[in-house]
Amino acid sequence: MTTGRSAGIREHGGMRVLLLTLSLLCGAAQAQQTLAPGVVLLSGGFESGRQPDGNSVLLKGEGDGWLLIDSGRHRAHTEAALAAAGGQVTAALNTHWHLDHLGGNAWLRERLPGLQVWASPAVGQALANGGWLDRYRQQLVAGIPTAPPAQAAVMQVDLDLLNRADALNPDREIRAASSLAIVGRRLRVGVESAVSGGDLWVLDEASGTLAAGDLVTLPVPFLDTACPPAWREALRRLSAQPFTRLVPGHGPVMSRADFERWRGGFDALLDCADQGLHPAACAAAWRSHARPWLDDAGDARVNGMVGYYFKTLLQAPPEQRERFCRRP
Ligand SMILES: [Zn+2]
Repeated sequence: MTTGRSAGIREHGGMRVLLLTLSLLCGAAQAQQTLAPGVVLLSGGFESGRQPDGNSVLLKGEGDGWLLIDSGRHRAHTEAALAAAGGQVTAALNTHWHLDHLGGNAWLRERLPGLQVWASPAVGQALANGGWLDRYRQQLVAGIPTAPPAQAAVMQVDLDLLNRADALNPDREIRAASSLAIVGRRLRVGVESAVSGGDLWVLDEASGTLAAGDLVTLPVPFLDTACPPAWREALRRLSAQPFTRLVPGHGPVMSRADFERWRGGFDALLDCADQGLHPAACAAAWRSHARPWLDDAGDARVNGMVGYYFKTLLQAPPEQRERFCRRP
């Protein structure tokens, strides 16, 4: 298990935080699951000693083409997604700029020169000079030479992706909530700022499948670069959508009732933090909501992650708590 804390990456903004949090997760290798006709989930995972991949959703178009929502980080995940579509991915959409949802663009573009990629403007901002991912790249360049070999290898995966920033950028930007058709599928796309400053969610109207990106994650909400008040509002908008199943950014598919249970836990966690209660008590409140999804290992991870988020964000000094709410 690698942690950002031991990877030799100095804290700069939220970068080290993201590495640390993601490293506290563990998961199985990618698994493929048909959710509805023409709707396939490729589960993300996180094998010990490396960073995770987010969940990917494939939507079959009117012709042979497929839309891939989130392209993963590691080649094995992206390859599996392309194979699940019979090699016919013609469009991709990234819910946000975290590399476990975006990195696969680089490899896809090598294989699929005509690929059309959709994302929010926040992807380009993160990759541009001085943006979050650009600064993260500089930290990797500085940190890899002195990192232990196993950690250097993990860091190198991300550096290799970020050295191909042009291939990660979208061709088409989605700036506001829209109804549009991609590969002939009718989609409702929402634009939120809560998790990364530019978070897309996608409702596939034909199947009632909502791809939520990291607006919904397990074993806890990932608050690394989050604006908590905006996140509450985003979840209220998600709840108002006519979906029948929801694919989170990390974790298993949810029913509407599952999502409302998760959302109740999210609100309870933030309320608990706002009341100044102890992180352990708030972690217990979260666990009571997330119980259906947590095994013993998950329980242990919840404590560590909630404690970390309380320290760095939810119960940080007041001026720091909403620092990710002030984004362009
Ligand atoms: Zn993610």
